[in-house]
Amino acid sequence: MAKRQFKAESKRLLEMMINSIYTQKEIFLRELISNASDAMDKIYYKALTDDELVFNKEDYFIKVTADKEKRLLTITDTGIGMTKEELENNLGVIAKSGSLAFKSENESKDGHDIIGQFGVGFYSAFMVADEITVISKALGSDEAFKWKSKGADGYTIVTTENDTVGTEITLKIKENTEDEQYDEFLEEHRLKAIIKKYSDFIRYPIKMDVKEQ
Ligand code: ADP
Ligand code: MG
Repeated sequence: MAKRQFKAESKRLLEMMINSIYTQKEIFLRELISNASDAMDKIYYKALTDDELVFNKEDYFIKVTADKEKRLLTITDTGIGMTKEELENNLGVIAKSGSLAFKSENESKDGHDIIGQFGVGFYSAFMVADEITVISKALGSDEAFKWKSKGADGYTIVTTENDTVGTEITLKIKENTEDEQYDEFLEEHRLKAIIKKYSDFIRYPIKMDVKEQ
């Protein structure tokens, strides 16, 4: 008998996943910083075998910027970036972990990072954001693209301008409700504490810039 594939309601799955895999909202920042770090590692590994590519350590960093008035939190990296196809394949396919494939190729697996291995890290940002914009320019490409999504109902991709290779992820932080607080994710001391707690081991500098209103 032919085996049939299960169908999944991706909207419902995404909602379920966003609201149940993670117990603490704050871990979204760890996931985005770890993706940024992975993206810079990819250039590092590429430079080992590519004579044309020189890895200057001082060019690689992560920047976390908050604008309280606009409720925007931005995580920028100078990593390998994504082409249009990569934006579609990496941010459009839920639970396919690219970093898992990459990590098992290049180093031993990190046993305790269970969530990272599910390939849902990026989407954890929807716990705190009602809209996410990703602007990315891939290494070796002269085109940049803007990916935008409000979560469950899909995403758009358009071409955009960006001078530098890398990725900029902007979260429109949710408004506080009676039960849930989100303002804290725009506070410098809180962001610093989350970074210290989860991303202390990151090999790249993490710069911070918080704009008060
Ligand atoms: P995972 O990291 O386990 O693959 P994620 O959901 O965290 O799962 O990320 C999905 C994929 O999106 C990554 O594997 C990577 O290919 C791509 N990606 C996410 N963030 C970035 C980034 N800042 N720069 C380049 N690629 C990224
Ligand atoms: Mg990840």
